[in-house]
Amino acid sequence: MTAHLGVDLGGTNFRIATFASDGTTPLEVHKEEVGEPRDPETIVTRLAAAAERLAGPGEATLGVGIAAMLRDREGTVANSPHLRWRDVPFGKLLAARLGGRFALGVYNDVNAVVWGEAVGGAARGCRDVLGVYVGTGIGGGVIAGGQLVEGVSNCAGEIGHVKIRWDDDAAPCACGQRGCIEAYVGGSYVARRIADELGAGARSAAIELAGGAGLVTPGHVDQAAGQGDEWALALWSELAPMLAVVLGNALAVLNSERLVLGGGLLGRTPVLYELVTTSLMVAAPVAILEQLTVAPAELGDDAGLVGAAALARSGTSIIRG
Ligand SMILES: [Zn+2]
Repeated sequence: MTAHLGVDLGGTNFRIATFASDGTTPLEVHKEEVGEPRDPETIVTRLAAAAERLAGPGEATLGVGIAAMLRDREGTVANSPHLRWRDVPFGKLLAARLGGRFALGVYNDVNAVVWGEAVGGAARGCRDVLGVYVGTGIGGGVIAGGQLVEGVSNCAGEIGHVKIRWDDDAAPCACGQRGCIEAYVGGSYVARRIADELGAGARSAAIELAGGAGLVTPGHVDQAAGQGDEWALALWSELAPMLAVVLGNALAVLNSERLVLGGGLLGRTPVLYELVTTSLMVAAPVAILEQLTVAPAELGDDAGLVGAAALARSGTSIIRG
C-alpha cells in the first residue's frame, strides 16, 4: 500500500500529515517548530526523519508546500525570507535523502493551499480557479483546466507583485521593486499605514476598540468601519478597489469559475472583504462575472497539507532524486 503524505513548511513550524488514498482529512499530523539552526541540511534531515516515520515501510508520495519563491519544478528555492534561504536546491537535497521509494514534489505554499481548496474546500470540483490570500503579503495560485499553473520557472500566480503604479512615488515592495499591489494592500503595509495615520493624529473609533492608538489592528479598523467610522471607511474604500482591479484584471485573463479569497488579513476583516467583492462587480468584465462565484477559503491551516499531498499523489512535478 502506498502512503500519501503532505508537508506545510513555513518559517515558524513545519507540519506533516498522512492521508487516506481518497481522503482530504489528515489521518495523523505531526508538528515541529522550525527553530534554530534552520540551515537546509538540518531541515532536510528532520523532515526526512518525520516522513519516514509516518510513511512506514514501502512506497510513498510526499508533497511539500514551502513558503518560498521557487525557481523551477525541482524544488530549488530562489528565496525564502521565512526560512532565510537563498538559492537552495531543497528538492534535490530532500529527494536524495529520502531515496527512491518516495515520489517527492515541492510546491509554492500558496499554490498548495489553492489546490487544497479545489480538492476539498471552497473550490471543490472546480477546474478553473483563482485563489488569492491577503495576509502579511499577498499570494495567489491558479488552476486552469484542472491543472495547477506553475509557469516556466514555477512563479505563476504571484499576484502580489502585479504592479498598480509605475511612477517615482510608487510604494517600495519587499520584493525589491515598486508599485506592487502587496505594497498597498498586504497586511504588513496596511498595519504600517494604520500606525502612520493614527500616529499623525487621525481620529477613529478603532482607537477606543483597541484600547489605544498604538494597539489598532486591521481587525479593529474593520470593526470601526462596520460601525460607520469615517476614517476606517475611507481607508477601506481606498484599498478595496485597488485589490479589486488587480483581481478583475487577473480574472479577465483567466476566466475562472471560482475566486477563493482568504489569508490572515482578508479572513478577519469581513467589511473589507465585502467591499472588495462589491468593487469586483465593477472591476471585472461582465462576461467574466456571469460564470464567476466568489467564496471565502474554507480549509484554514489544513489547506496546504491537503493540497501538497494531493499534488504529489496526482504526479504533479515529481522530482527524480
Ligand atoms: Zn513586489
